[in-house]
Amino acid sequence: MDQMYFSPAQVDRLVDDAFAAIRQYNQDVRDRPAYPSTADLEILKSLASPLPASGSDAVEVLSTLVELGAHTAVPTTGGRFFGYVAGGVLPVALASRLVADAWDQASALHAMSPLAATLEKVSERWVVELLGLPDETFAGFSTGTSMATFCALAGARHHLLTNAGWDVKAKGVFGAPPLRIVANEAAHSCVWRSLRLLGVGEEQIVRAKTDSEGRILPADLPTLDDRTILILQAGDVNTGAFDNFEVLCPLAQKAGAWTHIDGAFGLWAAASPRYQHLTKGIELGDSWACDAHKTLNAPYECGLVLCRHAAYRAAMETGASYAPIGAQRDGMAYVPEMSRRARAVELWAILKSLGRSGVAALVDQLCARALLMATLLREAGFTVLNEVSFNQVLLRCNTDAETARVLAQVQQAGECWCGPSRWKGQAVIRFSVCSWATTEDDIQRAAKSFRTALSTSR
Ligand SMILES: *Cc1c(COP(=O)(O)O)cnc(C)c1O
Repeated sequence: MDQMYFSPAQVDRLVDDAFAAIRQYNQDVRDRPAYPSTADLEILKSLASPLPASGSDAVEVLSTLVELGAHTAVPTTGGRFFGYVAGGVLPVALASRLVADAWDQASALHAMSPLAATLEKVSERWVVELLGLPDETFAGFSTGTSMATFCALAGARHHLLTNAGWDVKAKGVFGAPPLRIVANEAAHSCVWRSLRLLGVGEEQIVRAKTDSEGRILPADLPTLDDRTILILQAGDVNTGAFDNFEVLCPLAQKAGAWTHIDGAFGLWAAASPRYQHLTKGIELGDSWACDAHKTLNAPYECGLVLCRHAAYRAAMETGASYAPIGAQRDGMAYVPEMSRRARAVELWAILKSLGRSGVAALVDQLCARALLMATLLREAGFTVLNEVSFNQVLLRCNTDAETARVLAQVQQAGECWCGPSRWKGQAVIRFSVCSWATTEDDIQRAAKSFRTALSTSR
């Protein structure tokens, strides 16, 4: 190849093939086993090959990839995938993302994409309104909640140290006045990792005791002061439980502490009249992290860091000779990355398409399906360990060994897929309803698979 050039016809051909592949995938995904078989995954070994010295035809490359995905992609969008807290993809989000990928907009600076910058700004306002957060709250668009948590905690550190008279920008954090970290003992692993990356060791974290659901016991709340970051959660990754923000946030506010809330999937409860009692008081927090790619069913890499303090912006301060931060929204002023794809496109499309009532309906549907599953599991003889206050069902059999056997059999059967976890020292199965595509029939099929597995394992 002397010159790199693709004719419009070649481009069209690839795009047509891609869209045909997407249509086929979407058609097949509901009927595929809920997880690729070990035999199917064997194909992936064929990928281990040296870097090609010369190229291949692009149409053939795409076709190879499509064939590979048809057998090995984990069918998270098929309606019977209940592993982790995965989320499906709303059709409007998929379509918008595909269009946005063709636009290839960078959302570092307003000048690079006034379109992306405006969609970030509008989505930010909509999310703040939908979640009932304070007006002054702003949002950064991150890959997910892990990065959002990291950013928020960096902002918190900057805020508290600045208040303590320490110039973080000039002096750094080594030798700074010590901060106190109080976290829900059941906090998500991304909290501990973020703290470690920010220079806080595990022995330096005070773990707040929790009840059987993983909610901080307010009576046992460790001392808070104006050098404290308090880390709460809206939606425990196992039980789905919410901390008591109404009680805890005012205590933190009174002490001058900073409250960060991990609401990766649970923060969206605030959009539902039926579930917003769970998030009562979140508006008294200082920063929040959440994902649009879980409960809201955006495609992956659609996270949000929300904050209401200028110190956050100071912590993220940036700018280059060729890229000064201007008066209009520059996305890179809110997160550590410069070049980022325009993630707000699909978030905007989802919120525009669903509206307030649609988001509520989505949240309610996921929770209703989880409740149905819990009922069917109890009827089948399983122990449901959690209250099922949101979209997570935590279950177990009589022993750790039996729980592991039943889970292995359910996974093998391919009717549905979910994974193991540990809760309060016991082996458990975690079943998360997080996709719009999950129907009542899907839940019935999943429950039947659990029933069968239990009866054959005894
Ligand atoms: C998924 C999850 C995270 C991590 O979010 P990512 O988007 O995967 O980075 C953090 N906290 C909770 C409660 C989660 O469910």
